[in-house]
Formats: sequence, structure tokens, C-alpha cells
Amino acid sequence: MSDTIIIMQDGSKWKPSTSSDTVHCVNCANAVDTPEEIASYPDGNCPDCGETWTGSEKRSTKIVVTAPEAISGET
Ligand SMILES: [Zn+2]
Repeated sequence: MSDTIIIMQDGSKWKPSTSSDTVHCVNCANAVDTPEEIASYPDGNCPDCGETWTGSEKRSTKIVVTAPEAISGET
């Protein structure tokens, strides 16, 4: 696994961490966010209520970005 460093125009460096998917079940409001459970989407069942995924789940992808090097001057 290789690290990707994003260098912004102002010279600050950012390292994107893993992106995480979250699927919100429409039947039980379970928020599925583990890779194993996400892998069952959209062809499997909700691991919480057992209902099949309907395809109308709300899915969000969150990309976590961390700054390995301090950025000074701006907040
Ligand atoms: Zn469910």
C-alpha cells in the first residue's frame, strides 16, 4: 500500500486516509459502515434487519483527510 500525498497550491501537504462508505438502511435505519458489510451492498441483505437492500438506501462516502505536516497561519 502506498501513501498518496496531496500537495495543495499553497504548499501544504495532505494525506488522504481511507475513504469510508456508509449505507443507511431504509428498513431499520441501520448505518452500515464496515467494509465487510458494505461489500454485501447492493446485492445482499442488511446485516441488521436482514431485509434485502432496496437500492434506495442513502449512501455516503466520507474521505478522511489528515494533515501529516502542520499547516501554519490558517485555520
Ligand atoms: Zn436494515
